[in-house]
Amino acid sequence: SCQALPQDAVPQRNDELPVHGLSEMVVGVLGGGQLGRMLCQAASQMGIKVMVLDPQENCPASSLSYHHMVGSFDDSATVEKFAKRCGVLTFEIEHVDVATLEKLEKQGVECQPKASTIRIIQDKYLQKVHFSQHGIPLPEFMQIEDLEGVKKAGGLFGYPLMIKSRRLAYDGRGNAIAKSEEELPSAVDALGGFRRGLYVEKWAPFVKELAVIVVKGRDNYVLCYPVVETIHRDSICHTIKAPADVKCKIRDHATEVASNAVNSLKGAGVFAVELFLTKDGQILLNGVAPRPHNSGHHTIESCYTSQYENHLRAVVGLPLGDPSMKTPAAVMYNVLGEEEGELGFQLAHQLIKRALTIPGATFHWYDKPEMRKQRKMGHITIVGPSLGNIESNLAIIVEGKRLNDK
Ligand code: ATP
Repeated sequence: SCQALPQDAVPQRNDELPVHGLSEMVVGVLGGGQLGRMLCQAASQMGIKVMVLDPQENCPASSLSYHHMVGSFDDSATVEKFAKRCGVLTFEIEHVDVATLEKLEKQGVECQPKASTIRIIQDKYLQKVHFSQHGIPLPEFMQIEDLEGVKKAGGLFGYPLMIKSRRLAYDGRGNAIAKSEEELPSAVDALGGFRRGLYVEKWAPFVKELAVIVVKGRDNYVLCYPVVETIHRDSICHTIKAPADVKCKIRDHATEVASNAVNSLKGAGVFAVELFLTKDGQILLNGVAPRPHNSGHHTIESCYTSQYENHLRAVVGLPLGDPSMKTPAAVMYNVLGEEEGELGFQLAHQLIKRALTIPGATFHWYDKPEMRKQRKMGHITIVGPSLGNIESNLAIIVEGKRLNDK
C-alpha cells in the first residue's frame, strides 16, 4: 500500500452534484490567514465562492476571497450574521466560538467538520481523552490543577516533562518543558499559571515527527495523503519532506493510526494528524487539526489534488480527488520572519529571489502586512526526482543553513 495509487484506482462515486451548481455554493471560512488564502486560490479554480470572516482588514485571504467580512470568529453575533450568508461553514482555525456553532447547527446551519469535532479539538486535553477512548496510541497524559498535581505527574512520568495549555495553542506557543522538579514552577508560570487550564504529557522519545493529511467526505469516505516527515525548530514547523523516508511498514502504520483518528471525528473536510515515531517503531498521536495544515502545503505542487481542493470538495459534497503524489519527492520550507520590520522583508525577499532560480521550486507569499520574528510569512515548495536532489537545491536557497540544523 506504499505504492502510488494509479489514477484509475481512485474510487469514483455517483453522488449527485449540488442541484444549484457549484458556483452557487458559498463556503464560509472562519479565519482568513494563509490557509484561508490557499483555500480561496483552490476555490477560484473550481468556481466555488469563498467568504472569509477575519478581524484583520488586510488579512492574507482578504484580497482573494469572494467576500471578506471584517469581524471576530470568536464573537457570537458576528458568527451568526456571517453564517446566514453561507451555504456551509468551515474553518482554517479551531479557536472559534463553538457554542455559537452548536446553536447554529440546531437551527439547520451546516458546519463541516461538525461543531462537536471543533469542541473536542480546540481543547488539547479533551482531544487526548477522546483519542485515548477510541484506542488511538498517544503519550500518557494527565490533567493538572495545581503545583501538587504537576509534581505528582512529574513523579509518575519522569523528566523532561511536557506541560501544555489546553487551549489557544499554536506553533508550540502553549508548551513548556520542565527538565526537573525544580523547573516546574517556572514552566507553569511561563504558560500563565494554572488559571488558563493546563495538562501534562509524558515526554515522547521520538526519532522522527510524521504527519498524515486525511480527507473525509460527507459520506465518511476517507482518503489519506502520503506520510510526510515534519521538522520543527523551536517548536515551529520548519520543513516538510514528502514522502517521509521511513520503512513501508511504518508508513502503513502511521496511515492506519491517522485514518482511525479521523474516523472517530464527525464531519467532512481535511484533517491533519501529527504523529511521533519512536525508536522502537511505535506511532504515537501528537494531535489533530480539523482543517488544512502546514504539513500539507506541498500537496499544491506535488499531489494530483491539493489538500485545499480536497477540503472544498469534501465540505461542498463533491467526490474527493486523488491524494497521491505526482512527483517522486517534494520538500516544503517555511519562510519565517528572521527580523522585525523592513530588514525582515529584505531577508525574506533575498531567499525568495534565490528560489526563483531553482528548477522545480515554487514560492508562496502570504501578503501579511507586518513582518515579525518567527512569523510564517510564506513558503517554498521544491519538487524533484529525489529528496537528496531537492535538499541540495534547498541548501542553495537557504544558503549554508542545513535542513536539520536545530
Ligand atoms: P502546531 O501548531 O505545530 O500543531 P502546537 O502548538 O499544537 O503546534 P504541539 O503540536 O503540542 O504544539 O507541540 C509542538 C512540538 O513540541 C511538537 O511538534 C514536538 O516537537 C514537541 N512535543 C509536543 N509534545 C511532545 C511530547 N509529549 N514529547 C516530546 N515532544 C513533544
